[in-house]
Amino acid sequence: MDRKALLSDVKRVVVKIGTSSITAGGSAVSEEFMDSIAGQVSELRKRGIEVLLVSSGAIGIGLKALNAVPKPNEVPIKQAAASVGQGILMQKWNDSFQKYGMNAAQVLITMADYSDREKVMNLNNTITTLLEYGAVPIFNENDAIAVKEIGPVFGDNDTLSAVIASRADADLLVIMSDIDGLYDSNPRTHSDAKFISEVSDIESVEAFAGGAGSRMGTGGMRTKINAARICRDAGCLMLIVSSSEDDIVLRSVSGEDVGTVFLADSAIPAKRRWLKSVNPAGRIVVDAGAAEAVLSHKSLLPVGILSASGPFEAGKPVDIVCGGAVIARGIPDYSSEEINLIKGKRSAEAQKLLGDRMKHKDVILSENVAVLP
Ligand code: GLU
Repeated sequence: MDRKALLSDVKRVVVKIGTSSITAGGSAVSEEFMDSIAGQVSELRKRGIEVLLVSSGAIGIGLKALNAVPKPNEVPIKQAAASVGQGILMQKWNDSFQKYGMNAAQVLITMADYSDREKVMNLNNTITTLLEYGAVPIFNENDAIAVKEIGPVFGDNDTLSAVIASRADADLLVIMSDIDGLYDSNPRTHSDAKFISEVSDIESVEAFAGGAGSRMGTGGMRTKINAARICRDAGCLMLIVSSSEDDIVLRSVSGEDVGTVFLADSAIPAKRRWLKSVNPAGRIVVDAGAAEAVLSHKSLLPVGILSASGPFEAGKPVDIVCGGAVIARGIPDYSSEEINLIKGKRSAEAQKLLGDRMKHKDVILSENVAVLP
């Protein structure tokens, strides 16, 4: 497909920059690289294109500043390093953007924050307002408090950047990598590796990502392909390009034939997209009849519910489970305690049991359900 035509309507772009790009492959921050990104972002803004960045580097920069070398499972030092490094990282980004008269805006996020509907709606307001004022939002995971050991994390910025692209309704995600795109095998170990410039069917290239351990680039190809799946649902194109090429962001957005482009489907509703990528607060187990209703995008009634566990409050996203399998995720209008009171009951009886607390007959409205995967 003609790249220029494909990218002609791009108005909002998320650019993901990995640690190895920020440090230009070495261990010190490359101010030259950051200045170049700021220059390209400034040029895009002049063309009426909004840019959001997702920048890694906090842990790497912090470890260097603290002169620390952690063992693989030594989490506290990495978190401490992230606190030190994030400050330095933002100072450097701000220096670079100030040269072009722009402000860099730090936005740190965790999976727990992202899973909270109210917080995520506020995030939308923050993004919109920052862009209105011409500031450049720069996202990273809040590594100082996000720990795999105590709860789900994004874990890698490929995933985080796709989630941000989806949330911000971006038209394009550019993932800058230490490799110039997707190959059918690892080009570092296979001299006959074939370059793939366009992917229309993500499932067909999944095998090229390699197994665990065959990491190509910072987050590996696997996380990039997962990112492409999140973008596909959001109607957002995704490009993997090499960060070592000159003006690569500008050239990507201008529709030059660089890197690998992943095509997108038309966007599914934002709330459903959000539901698919959050951390559930609990689960509702349903019978086969209710499962069928949910899978055909109908609402979930008390009569088909077998149990609810969490505990969770009304309004928190939960998994809907049938026969041991998670079939969907939804936002109940009742707490786990209330649902356990009315489970298996017909609407009239549920109404008697809940009295004033009964808002409507549906435990989860159809517009608040996303079928998985
Ligand atoms: N959040 C991490 C950092 O700033 C980077 C995660 C990643 O490399 O994907 O150091």
